[in-house]
Amino acid sequence: MTEPAPPKPKSAPQKAMEKLGLVRDIDLALHLPLRYEDETRITPIAALHDNEPAQVEGVVVDCQVELRSRRQLLVRLKDESGTLLLRFLHFYPSQQKQMAAATRLRVRGEARIGFFGREMVHPVVKVVDDDTPLAQALTPVYPTSAQLPQAYLRKAVAAGLARADLREILPAGVVPRGLPSLKEALHYLHHPPPSASQDALHEHRHPAWERLKFEELLAQQLSQLQAQRERALLVAPALRARPGGLHEKLLAALPFQLTAAQQRVSEEIAQDLARAQPTHRLLQGDVGSGKTVVAALAAAVAIDAGWQCALMAPTEILAEQHFRKLIGWLEPLGLKVAWITGSVKGKARQKMLDAAASGEAQLVVGTHAVIEDKVKFAKLGLAVIDEQHRFGVAQRLALRNKLKAMDLEPHLLMMSATPIPRTLAMTYFADLDVSTIDELPPGRSPIVTKVFTESKRDDVIAKIRGAVADGAQVYWVCPLVEESEAVDLRNATETHAELSAALPGVQVGLLHGRMSPADKAAVMAQFSSGAMSLLVATTVIEVGVDVPNASLMVIEHAERFGLAQLHQLRGRVGRGAKASVCVLIYTPPLSDTGKSRLKAMAETTDGFEIARRDLDIRGPGEFMGARQSGAELLRFADLQEDAPLLVAARALAPRLLDQHPEAARRQVARWLGTKAEFLKA
Ligand code: ADP
Ligand code: MG
Repeated sequence: MTEPAPPKPKSAPQKAMEKLGLVRDIDLALHLPLRYEDETRITPIAALHDNEPAQVEGVVVDCQVELRSRRQLLVRLKDESGTLLLRFLHFYPSQQKQMAAATRLRVRGEARIGFFGREMVHPVVKVVDDDTPLAQALTPVYPTSAQLPQAYLRKAVAAGLARADLREILPAGVVPRGLPSLKEALHYLHHPPPSASQDALHEHRHPAWERLKFEELLAQQLSQLQAQRERALLVAPALRARPGGLHEKLLAALPFQLTAAQQRVSEEIAQDLARAQPTHRLLQGDVGSGKTVVAALAAAVAIDAGWQCALMAPTEILAEQHFRKLIGWLEPLGLKVAWITGSVKGKARQKMLDAAASGEAQLVVGTHAVIEDKVKFAKLGLAVIDEQHRFGVAQRLALRNKLKAMDLEPHLLMMSATPIPRTLAMTYFADLDVSTIDELPPGRSPIVTKVFTESKRDDVIAKIRGAVADGAQVYWVCPLVEESEAVDLRNATETHAELSAALPGVQVGLLHGRMSPADKAAVMAQFSSGAMSLLVATTVIEVGVDVPNASLMVIEHAERFGLAQLHQLRGRVGRGAKASVCVLIYTPPLSDTGKSRLKAMAETTDGFEIARRDLDIRGPGEFMGARQSGAELLRFADLQEDAPLLVAARALAPRLLDQHPEAARRQVARWLGTKAEFLKA
């Protein structure tokens, strides 16, 4: 009996290809060159320019090893116009032999023109005959990894390109004018003719590039549109506000009047809720614009109609603050609010779970613990996610899946203080309705931001003394508490001790992520009540913390924070009538991105402008937090530069989906494969 042959083990380059995602023929065909080498022409030796790459061909007149300052192989090459010295500092005996035996060589490298004539150090060498043909196309250089030799990859890509099914999926006439077919575009980009403009290729301006970007953007638009249409088929409870109902009672009980912007977005949300299709709306508004009360009003509508509402926040502190605020507003109206986070355990947790499952709790507030399997709702009508961008893609998908399991789909309202730039809103968030609060409640004064180096730290501490004497409350933000991280970081505990010593008579508190939730809550309560003047904190205060009397914030090592994070932190001050100041302390030297971030902070407090600059600095993948999942969403198109193509793709998507549904399906499969699901998160 013969044993079945074991499966052939994969070679290292094969494994490396898989790692790069080069599995299907189409993956290989879409693996585009980083740059090109020109092996299509021969430059006469006399015409070589200093430091420019070129290919020359000539006869070998001399080849020997010399011992100058170090051992080296010197080869003299001659053509009709002159001679060129080839210099090899590292070489194998076999190379020496090969070149000594050759009569003609074709070499490629950068010439150096020095005192002793023209030379090339370590050129790429090929032994040729009189009539060895030149390359017919520019030679592609692909992005690769250490285990994957360029020559191997080149062959694999050429083979993949030849095998891949590149037939046009899109019906004739729908592609923007002047763009080549996909097949032509790919062949061109892998093997451009000698006449091609390397600049246009490099800068992705060539029509072949445009075609690829268009295809990619179209696939992305189609998958969004499909998600949107699938959602439109789902049925949700129609929730209408009753005259004289909870919604009106809550409005009447609020200690302030809604701003015009709050009224407008509340109205938009109310219209969504009244429909029998699930709401899928993003409520955006800068930090402090008053989103929470808008969410509470939506919750009141849902609850009044006999349904439950869940509100999820990304951190315990924020969830707790919402909880306090909401019970303050809603319990007097006779509602029961439950509280579920990771730190609510044992009997207390079971009680909360029971209250959610029985429907006794009309509102459930918590962290992502709210979407865990154990949590059941009797009748969930509305889910609100605060600071939605802070939740990972995986958590957002988990929420989707949890909601999917219900008979009637709940309405979904997301809130974010990080506004989505227009191009992103048209792509990743294309299936979201967006409401924007573009106005702050009255009586707020703008925040002045100052940037100082470490050397001014003592002056800043002196300022705090004066501010506290005037009745101000102050945040001092430190980057981390883990000693394992860079030792030069002052950790919060040390800073707390230092500031307590430097500011005798000032109540200094400490808040960091390692404290128990109860301790955190106790410290926050002291600070909120005004009993504590200075709060030394890590970024646990980053999201949503609301103490209107706080008017000074100091952020240490500001260069280590991202721009969105700095803006969020700064939003903790400027919430009351007091003029507020945010001091950013950095330790030089600053990186270029560090510089742009601090500059942006000093120049603007407008969240939209901050988001736009953040997108410039970081790129869309990181902007959305997609980096955690390692998935690059757009490979070819650039949302900023390719806005015209995006507009064209956006216009085409609904037409294609209606008139050529099969083509639409194949387009998404070809381009997105398994990523389509991810895009819905
Ligand atoms: P964010 O949009 O950052 O979540 P919050 O909802 O926390 O902002 O609101 C910030 C503060 O402004 C809170 O103290 C809130 O009670 C208060 N607030 C909200 N709306 C108004 C308003 N129309 N007038 C006055 N204060 C308001
Ligand atoms: Mg908030």
